[in-house]
Amino acid sequence: MTALVIVGHGTRSAAGVDQFAALVERVRRRGDIGDVEGGFIELSRPPLTDAVSALVARGHRALVALPLVLTAAGHGKGDIPAAMGREQQRHPGLTYRYGRPLGPHPLLHEALAERIDAALADPSPADALPAGVDRAGTWVALIGRGSTDPDANAEVAKVARLLWEGRGYAGVEPGFISLASPSVPEVLDRLRRLGARRIVVAPYFLFAGVLPDRIVAQSAEFAAAHPDLDVRVAEVIGDCDALADLVLERHAEALGGDIRMNCDTCAYRVLMPGFADKVGRPQRPHDHPDDPVGHHHHHGHDHHDHGHDHGSVAVVGGGPGPEDLITVRGKALLDAADVVVVDRLAPQGLLAGLRPDVLVVDAAKVPRGPSMAQDAINEALVSHAQAGRRVVRLKGGDPYVFGRGHEEVQACVAAGVPVTVVPGVSSALAAPALAGVPVTHRGVAHDVTVVSGHLPPGHPDSLVDWAALARARGTVVLLMAVDTIAKIAAVLVEHGRAPETPVLAVQDAGLPGQRSVPARLDEIGAVAAREGVGPPAVFVLGPVVALHTTGPST
Ligand code: SAH
Repeated sequence: MTALVIVGHGTRSAAGVDQFAALVERVRRRGDIGDVEGGFIELSRPPLTDAVSALVARGHRALVALPLVLTAAGHGKGDIPAAMGREQQRHPGLTYRYGRPLGPHPLLHEALAERIDAALADPSPADALPAGVDRAGTWVALIGRGSTDPDANAEVAKVARLLWEGRGYAGVEPGFISLASPSVPEVLDRLRRLGARRIVVAPYFLFAGVLPDRIVAQSAEFAAAHPDLDVRVAEVIGDCDALADLVLERHAEALGGDIRMNCDTCAYRVLMPGFADKVGRPQRPHDHPDDPVGHHHHHGHDHHDHGHDHGSVAVVGGGPGPEDLITVRGKALLDAADVVVVDRLAPQGLLAGLRPDVLVVDAAKVPRGPSMAQDAINEALVSHAQAGRRVVRLKGGDPYVFGRGHEEVQACVAAGVPVTVVPGVSSALAAPALAGVPVTHRGVAHDVTVVSGHLPPGHPDSLVDWAALARARGTVVLLMAVDTIAKIAAVLVEHGRAPETPVLAVQDAGLPGQRSVPARLDEIGAVAAREGVGPPAVFVLGPVVALHTTGPST
């Protein structure tokens, strides 16, 4: 039968390591599975790589890897598969089926109830209420590990409910020892307010460890502050037959069943409120101190801060201004960012939705003189990324349409910083559309040219062939042309565009102040000046402008 490798996270607790080893031995002794090994991805010996190597040395090429975790959170979803991926690189041809996390499962609920009853039967502490299994007079605080994964926390809440159903406790409330609330003191206080006099704190943990020890300590502290209450702490589930039964069940299921995790509510797939930064986040293997590749990567990992030590830059087009015209990809990256370097014309409304700890850098205010501004921005992007941060460079419209986006990409590439570009809805196309002008239309215009009006015709640095644009028949969209429109229009007429060609100036497209100002080509300069057209604005000209329907505001 396919060999089994039981994968633990690892713990600093010697008792926890012993319990893990005892369970592996118990499963092995059952004899149902031909070959069984256990290993840890961090902190404890043996490392997973030794367990896998042992199985491979004994001729196994196909394994079941069972994450010995109660709920699927970062370890079960990311770290253990990543570690197994590394083993597959080490052992070409190695395949494995990945088992489902252990809970929720009736075997576990029954084991928890046994631990709770044992705590109730215990005559100590001396000042406790009379000993005896009195479920009706007992409230249970079921304490899970706590996670930055809301689905994992929800599983603990579900187990609390399942533990309560039909067992006759006064109530079962979930709580968490780390990373999630309510904390142990909070849930104990909640139960006190509900009128509890006897509380059993039940750690929803497989084995002894630093966190279960902390549950004991916090419960004792609460009990000391509330001498009128009888607060007891149950044992962890521990090495037992029920757990071995469950491991065997998960092994069989991995071979024959449908072992999907709870993907519908997985924060790595679905945007959950407050957890947007997880969507699509890459998973990387943990490093075991005994693992030969492990030494380049020391993160002071105390189970709580899975720091993302690989910075990156995403150059994101934010669209023309309204916060809902950014792409889904851009928004996901923005939600995941540690640092956002933002332009004045980027959608400012998006900044309000950032987590409070996100550093927002206003690119217009990056220190140094104006001529150095782009260098300073590039430097800021690179240095934040090199410090391990996820940087989003949020730009207006599309990053590559007069956005200098590629200069930033080049700077990142030159510095060896991973960089990605997310296209955006350019104002060149969006502003005419939002004002009711199609930039192309069957039988009317088969070309559209987007032109920077930043340098006026005749400027020595200009790269635009204005005469060619004048001869062409299609649509021209001018950006950055508020100051130059009169001169541009004159040159276009001079080189052959009809003076009556319709032009529409569209200012603040997509924003509350959006307005359109129409004029003939030979009059647009004077009209725009008289009407006070100001940046940001685009000018769209050509026969399509005659098709103009009234936009959202004119
Ligand atoms: N990368 C941007 C353009 C940057 S150049 C994009 O793809 O949209 C800046 C010019 O864009 C402005 O001078 C103006 O011509 C145009 N622009 C940007 N936002 C605009 C808006 N909301 N309404 C009208 N024009 C806009």
